[in-house]
Amino acid sequence: MSYGFMNKQGAASTGSEAAETPILCDTCLGPNPYVRMSKQAHGKECKICDRPFTVFRWSPGAGMRFKKTEICTTCAKIKNVCQTCILDLQYGLPVQVRDTALGLQGGAPSSDINKQYYVQRVEEQSLLPSSGPSSRAGQDLLKQLSRARGGAGGQPNYNRNKPHLCSFYAKGTCTRGDECPFRHELPVKNELSQQNIKDRFHGRNDPVARKILGGHAAAAGLAPPEDKDVTSLFLSALPPTITEDAIRTWFVTQVPTLKPEHIKSITLVPASKCAFVNFRRREEAEAAALRCAVKVQIEGQDVRVAWGRSRPVGKGKAAAKAE
Ligand SMILES: [Zn+2]
Ligand SMILES: [Zn+2]
Ligand SMILES: [Zn+2]
Repeated sequence: MSYGFMNKQGAASTGSEAAETPILCDTCLGPNPYVRMSKQAHGKECKICDRPFTVFRWSPGAGMRFKKTEICTTCAKIKNVCQTCILDLQYGLPVQVRDTALGLQGGAPSSDINKQYYVQRVEEQSLLPSSGPSSRAGQDLLKQLSRARGGAGGQPNYNRNKPHLCSFYAKGTCTRGDECPFRHELPVKNELSQQNIKDRFHGRNDPVARKILGGHAAAAGLAPPEDKDVTSLFLSALPPTITEDAIRTWFVTQVPTLKPEHIKSITLVPASKCAFVNFRRREEAEAAALRCAVKVQIEGQDVRVAWGRSRPVGKGKAAAKAE
């Protein structure tokens, strides 16, 4: 193990695994301009690609808990995230939130067979992901969501560095009082405490992202209906020349994690410039609704989206109605 000081200016720069600087967000680094770090080459396996990587440990400030890098620099570069908190470096938000707002497809494969190869390719070509189409509306939304999270649009949020909760205090048996290095507060059991590092990295099933995006979708009138049988979205104000294929392509390329087979059918009514997009499962319909809450533009035209419900075909011309 070795020690070194790190200048915060150089901290967020990218580098290969041999480089001396980890990729960290300003929050994880803490407010001190110079941070003393311990460094252990091949100290642990990366929690994403399983390869040994250089582990850095440091204190982000007095009274804060020690931090360490959890994933390797290559994996951090693939998703442009901090090696410690796995949040986006620019906005301090979960990958799922960023990719949904920007309409980015997950770049890194999650299967074991492909990921080693992918990681190697990224290292060889210094290929950076997130080069997909990004919209101004998505960027504005990310700034807004980041501010709402106390990040002031990219400013660090040092509350995230607070010590972990004292497990003895929760049981009423901590005898260390003010000397206790852990936080004396009762734990709040909710879905946010069930965070999984791989899910956060790959931008799927992230409870924090769900909460942030869900709040935004509700504000945009796209809160999921209570009736879980509703798995359709109703599109209106579509361009007059729109086709089913164009709608399908928009969803598959704009909604992270959505695959063509997740869409059961599309019912297009050209005369009224509206369509129902019917999903096989509620899960994917909700993911699509989260993306639609940002802004939907198909063939250059703003499209309105609401939750809808399909009626059994054969009951007159109107096969479906909007909720
Ligand atoms: Zn890795
Ligand atoms: Zn971080
Ligand atoms: Zn304690």
